[in-house]
Amino acid sequence: QTLKQTLLDAIRTIPDYPKPGIQFRDITTLLGNPKAFRRSVDELVHPYAGTNIDQIAGIEARGFILGGAIAHQLSAGFVPIRKKGKLPYDTVRVAYSLEYGVDEMEMHKDAVSSGEKVILVDDLIATGGTAEGAVKLLRQMGAEIVAACFVIDLPDLGGRKKLEDLGVTVRTLVEFE
Ligand code: IMP
Repeated sequence: QTLKQTLLDAIRTIPDYPKPGIQFRDITTLLGNPKAFRRSVDELVHPYAGTNIDQIAGIEARGFILGGAIAHQLSAGFVPIRKKGKLPYDTVRVAYSLEYGVDEMEMHKDAVSSGEKVILVDDLIATGGTAEGAVKLLRQMGAEIVAACFVIDLPDLGGRKKLEDLGVTVRTLVEFE
């Protein structure tokens, strides 16, 4: 069985969640499948094995789970990017667009140093609004974004293109319509 098929089989789809008409792609089943979890992490990191990556920036909350495993594998640090009001120390903050409206995300102001090589991680990219916000925060801190990695791409929503237009290399493992 191909890697793609193993991962596709491990992802659960929940119809009409969180609202009617939405097909929610649930990676908790992938995370709970030892082979699928390990292979997802291995596949996302393999281009960077042996290269110098300083930090993995994970987007709350599922980006923390994947990002922690990726950081360990690349001997990098981990930086949480969180919804506003959750981080205890001084932060930098950015507004980002959601499907309906806007929200704000934050990172500790000393979490990344200028010139550090960073990989951004989340479970899924849809419109790219969330990842775009994270890219802005990281660049504001002077980070060099080596890549943005996601298990799932929803290409119809245009997020990959949005990040690529910002000059970010995007890596994804499977796609859903
Ligand atoms: P975007 O900002 O439109 O690209 O949405 C991506 C963000 O929303 C990520 O943080 C995802 O975790 C979350 N998200 C959107 N749709 C889904 C889904 O179907 N399953 C899991 N997470 C989703």
